[in-house]
Parts: sequence; structure tokens; C-alpha cells
Amino acid sequence: MKPIQVTQSSMPNFNDYIEEIRDLWDSRWLTNMGVKHNQLEKELSHYLNTPYVNLFTNGHLALECAIAAFNLKGEVITTPFTFVSTTHAIVRNGLKPVFCDINLDNYNIDTSKLESLITDKTSAIIPVHVYGNICNVEEIDRIAKKYDLKVIYDAAHAFGVTVDGVGVGNFGDASMFSFHATKVFNTIEGGAVTFRNSNLKETLNSIKNFGIKGRETIEYVSGNAKMNEFQAAMGLCNLRHVEDEINKRKLVVNRYKERLSNIKGIRLLQLQKGVKSNFAYFPVVFDGYKMNRDEIAESLAIKNIFARKYFYPLTNSLDCYEQKYDVDLTPVAKFVSQNVLTLPLYADLSLDDVDLICDTVLGT
Ligand SMILES: *Cc1c(COP(=O)(O)O)cnc(C)c1O
Repeated sequence: MKPIQVTQSSMPNFNDYIEEIRDLWDSRWLTNMGVKHNQLEKELSHYLNTPYVNLFTNGHLALECAIAAFNLKGEVITTPFTFVSTTHAIVRNGLKPVFCDINLDNYNIDTSKLESLITDKTSAIIPVHVYGNICNVEEIDRIAKKYDLKVIYDAAHAFGVTVDGVGVGNFGDASMFSFHATKVFNTIEGGAVTFRNSNLKETLNSIKNFGIKGRETIEYVSGNAKMNEFQAAMGLCNLRHVEDEINKRKLVVNRYKERLSNIKGIRLLQLQKGVKSNFAYFPVVFDGYKMNRDEIAESLAIKNIFARKYFYPLTNSLDCYEQKYDVDLTPVAKFVSQNVLTLPLYADLSLDDVDLICDTVLGT
């Protein structure tokens, strides 16, 4: 049997992509804010329903540049229950991550524990919309205003998610999206920062291009994080069918839910009120189940089915951080990380395969 991976990249029809890149052979303009790049920014601004979109070569550098744009100092409050990128982006900007625990309802930062972590060194909050679930944005906004903190969301999982019709990229001072091959919408590698303050546009354009401002003015010491035309062309093609992809994902998620709901010891994500989901991930937390997470991952792997321990380990326990942080200060994150398994999910996953996965999880 062909292996079932945790995800499978969404791709356009081959000929559609060839058509999209054909004119690049005439223009010979391959990167540096070309026609495709600018068109994709415009179309994404429409799709994400947010005033400004700035494209990047990947999501990680988008986040690093967004953090750099606010010229933050000192400490940043964030979550350890995320992909390593979030924490690395903070550290690589010379900032100290301070880890806040998560809640058990949606695995996002627990806003009731946030305020006690604020010190006179805190300059920002960098929460993550984990699995595309929306953080408690109102409470985060209230706290940020009270202590004069910036808020930058890692919205890498939340492409196309809306709350009461509002695009998720409108919250906080800025949000980062990832368009990596494994995400709901991809540009092969790619990413974006969305924001509402128009001043940020020029700053980000400069930061992602070596700090160049004018022909002879270099404003920042900065690297290169520009999206090229072939990436943008992939994005333009994929954007045309992303709604179909999300609808197909929804069918897969519904089948998983039919099979795995109301089982003792299995905890599933609940849909949030007013939220239009993108069905990006299907995480299952085993809490007092007859098998533990590792045993289930193993019994799937025997059948060539590859689920992922996502997120494990927590970023506050990574080897590279040399035990600088105490995972016991984030006990809920520790528990979830030790017991979560993200099951395979992509638009073309067949319902028969979902059944096979569920049979294995249920041990039937
Ligand atoms: C994918 C991801 C990133 C990094 O994005 P890339 O496009 O892979 O660089 C950052 N944060 C989270 C939560 C992610 O899932």
C-alpha cells in the first residue's frame, strides 16, 4: 500500500501553472516585487479581507521581519506549544521569550495566565493561532493596550479563517501567514505579513530587501526575504482552487469526527463560535485512553500511515535552548505535547483511508 503521509501538498493543474509562468520568459523579471508578486499581494488582500499584505520568501522570515519592524526590546510573551519557528524568530531578533501556558479548550495561549508574566521589560506578545483555532483576541488586545505592548500573531495555520466575517489577519499589530508546501495554501515556500497600519508597508519592503530604502539609502542592517515570481505564480494558481481544497478538507474532518467523537479518552478540537475554519489539522489528544499516543503512532506506522506528534517537543524544551526554560511552568502545554497526535489530513485523502486510520486508532 502507498504510504499515507500526514499531509500532501496541494498543486494546480500542470498546464495552468505553465500558462501562469509563460510571460516570465518575455519580461525576464524573476524577482524583486515583480508583476506576479504584486498581483498576488492584491488578490490575497482581497481573499484574507485585510488592507495590507506583504509577501516573503517563507513564513519564518516573514515573522522575523515583522518582529524586526517593530524594533522590540527585552522580553516577549509567547507560547511553547508551536512550531520551532515562532520561538527561533523571537530569539534571532535578540529578544527573550517568556513562555505562557496554553488552555485545554483550543491549545492557544491561556490569557488568564498572561498578565502575571508581564514585567517592565516586556515589549510584545506573540501568540499563535494553533491548528487555525483563533486565540482570545479581545482579551489579548485588552492586555496589550493596558501595558502598551505590541501584538504579532503567528497565523501560519490560520489561512482564510474568519471570525464573525472578519479576516484573522486583522487582529493585533501584524500577523504572519505561512505558504509552505504543507500548509492549506502554498506558494511552494512562502509567507506573508498582514497589517492595518499603512506605514508598515514601506518598512517591511525595506527589511525584506537588505534594508534598502532608496537607490542610495540603506536604512537597516537586514537580510533578503523576498518572494520570487515563480512562487507568486504558484500562489496565483493555488488561490483559484483554495476554497475547493478547504471544502474537501471539511469532508475529511467530518468523517474523522463521526468516527472518533464521544470516545472515552479521546479529545477532539471543537469548532469555535462564529469562526469559519480552514480545516488545516486534525489533532487528537489521548487523555486516559486505552493506548497512549506513542503506541497509536506506532500502530499507524506499521500500516504505513504517518501521523505526526505536532507539537512535540515543546519549544521551551529544545536542545538548542540548553534547559534555559522550565517546561513545568507550562504544565498544560507539557501534557498536550506528550499526548497529541495530528492525524493525516489533506483535500484528496479518501474517506476509505480515513476509515482505515480510525479503525487503527480505535483498535478495531
Ligand atoms: C509553518 C509554520 C511556521 C514557519 O513557516 P515557514 O513558511 O515554514 O517558514 C511558523 N509557525 C508555525 C506555527 C508554522 O506552522
